[in-house]
Amino acid sequence: RRREKNIASTVTNRLPQKMLDLLNVAGELGNKLGWEIYAVGGFVRDILLGRPNLDLDLVVEGDGIFFAKELVKKLGGRVKAHNKFKTAVVILENGQRVDVATARLEYYEYPAALPTVELSSIKMDLYRRDFTVNALALRLNPDRFGQLVDFFGAERDIRNKTIRVLHSLSFVEDPTRILRAIRFERRFDFQIGGQTMRLVKNALNLKLFSKLSGTRVMHELQLIVSEEDPLACLNRMQELGIMEAIHPLLKLHKERIQVLIELAKVHNWYKLLYLEQSVEPWKLYFLGMTMGIKNTQIKQVTDRFHFTQREEREFLQLREMIHEALIQLMSWREGKSKLSRLYSILHPLPVEGVLFLMGKSRKEHIRRNISQYLARLRDMEIEITGNDLHELGIEPGPIYSTILEKIMAAKIDGQVETKKDELDMAQECYARESAKEDKADES
Ligand code: ATP
Repeated sequence: RRREKNIASTVTNRLPQKMLDLLNVAGELGNKLGWEIYAVGGFVRDILLGRPNLDLDLVVEGDGIFFAKELVKKLGGRVKAHNKFKTAVVILENGQRVDVATARLEYYEYPAALPTVELSSIKMDLYRRDFTVNALALRLNPDRFGQLVDFFGAERDIRNKTIRVLHSLSFVEDPTRILRAIRFERRFDFQIGGQTMRLVKNALNLKLFSKLSGTRVMHELQLIVSEEDPLACLNRMQELGIMEAIHPLLKLHKERIQVLIELAKVHNWYKLLYLEQSVEPWKLYFLGMTMGIKNTQIKQVTDRFHFTQREEREFLQLREMIHEALIQLMSWREGKSKLSRLYSILHPLPVEGVLFLMGKSRKEHIRRNISQYLARLRDMEIEITGNDLHELGIEPGPIYSTILEKIMAAKIDGQVETKKDELDMAQECYARESAKEDKADES
């Protein structure tokens, strides 16, 4: 048996009590069932790195689904089992999510006279993973709680800040790992190791990316732009020529990088100010990454990523709307043009579109006014509703939205303030609109 380092005190110091309780319950349950239980992957890596991570992945040397069900009997919550993969997702009563996988003892028959070997199943489980730093396991059974199972030198790599694959065919097996390597490297400020980097370049020379499924590339790109510092990853990708390896139209040339830098700034600014509002980062960054691609060619890209018809339609629509808004914004003048016009240009856009325009625009006053729009105008509401119009005796119909939109515009431009102003204006509007209709009827 290899000597295993025990990091129980580090674990105890770095995790919240609730998590420790959960780990202990899992370990005790393991003993009761006669199975070894491990915490694995990013959870263990992040304990060593001293970064809080509450996504718990467990591996059971036994029956993972049975284990998950027993865990829920003890702690409450629910289990979603995937029988095909022998995995389960546990959602505990307090909302904590635990992924449980099964590792089985496997026997390897070697050809000719070599004996069959029995490999410990946790080792097989870890060997399938992407990088040494993600291939650590932590024993949870009470008698050996906190022992670090490190077959591949992960602890040393974490100390040396190195991202290293487990074997030389790793990127051939799964080229998306190249994107993952970049993501982890930049997130932790590590370096992709020398030999691993040669394997990355080799994989790129072999054009492995061109055969890769669009859905999987897309998924990894989405993870990249959801990182704290997506630009660091995108720059690294540009250095290695990865985007053009995915599709030639996606080359991250200077102009795109420039805009992506601005988008990242605007995105950060927005995240700081409006914590509660959700932006889908990929929509924002994808607009930047596909900038300059003609409408006649964009379908090549959406096809490459296996967009569903709906995703494609929405994305093309968003590009179209942005194009339209850009043209309109060019003729909008601060101090001269009405704020309500700015509102009507920006309001149809989803927030990602608004942020894109803000990042893309080189004119300081446009940026400032878009930020004003987000801060003050976007969520503005008028006081009266259709009910008030009804009480004024106005027949319900399309005229309701005409009137309410006009009042909204007037409020934005500071022409109405109180509810009474709004009611007065509604009546005026109604009178004017009816007069128009009467005139149309006469002619
Ligand atoms: P994060 O902090 O981003 O959640 P993570 O390490 O938890 O990082 P996940 O994407 O949740 O990453 O994956 C969970 C584990 O599954 C990883 O630790 C890794 O060992 C393994 N894994 C994920 N994707 C791959 C892959 N493409 N090839 C091999 N192993 C993978």
